Amino acid sequence: MSIWKWQPGYWPGSCLLCAARVPGGRDLCPECEQSLPCVKQACPRCAAHGAVMGAEGAPCGACQKDPPAFAITRAAFRYAAPVDRLIQNLKYHGRLELSRLLGEYLAAYLQSLGDSLPDTIVPVPLHASRLRERGYNQSLEIARFVARALELPLNWKDARRVRATAPQKELPRDRRRGNVRGAFAAGPAFAGQRVAIVDDVMTSGHTADALADSLRRSGAVEVRVWVVARA
Ligand SMILES: [Zn+2]
Ligand SMILES: [Zn+2]
Repeated sequence: MSIWKWQPGYWPGSCLLCAARVPGGRDLCPECEQSLPCVKQACPRCAAHGAVMGAEGAPCGACQKDPPAFAITRAAFRYAAPVDRLIQNLKYHGRLELSRLLGEYLAAYLQSLGDSLPDTIVPVPLHASRLRERGYNQSLEIARFVARALELPLNWKDARRVRATAPQKELPRDRRRGNVRGAFAAGPAFAGQRVAIVDDVMTSGHTADALADSLRRSGAVEVRVWVVARA
């Protein structure tokens, strides 16, 4: 059975945000597409933005003080309206058709940057208990479209979430790092590889840091992070 199913609020040929008719089979009308919150200036390491940045191209203060296990973060959008609503609808309301839209925007953003490409893509895994509850992993669903657009292999089997953790957003900031430490285990398949982690949102960066750390321990030579949106 296909996991793709018709959902209330989704009409082919209409804008996924405002339901206006859209010519040419696009997902968003031109007005809604214009309203997407792009990132202007961000830390190259963690994609933090908004705060006072150092010299152009230099990492933010937090990354200089305590460098994360990943080398680069690319975020297509800021986590702000209307992208926050699209992600929440995908993640919590079963609107799986939004994974294509978000994945294709992320891939188009990455293509526009012209970075050299990694060897493989790894979506942030969900713990088996969370996966059973939600029925799908939104990061994997987004990553499928990124992998397809960039013609890269997708590895969703060799990195696992071995420890169930409380949702990061429910914890105070100072407990988020400890919450995800040791939560992931990566197999030997990543030895010698350059890996891109794909996730829907990066907030503190601790989840991506914990996964990047386990990938590097298993031999990945470089880990970067690709997210739809950076909070
Ligand atoms: Zn619209
Ligand atoms: Zn940073």
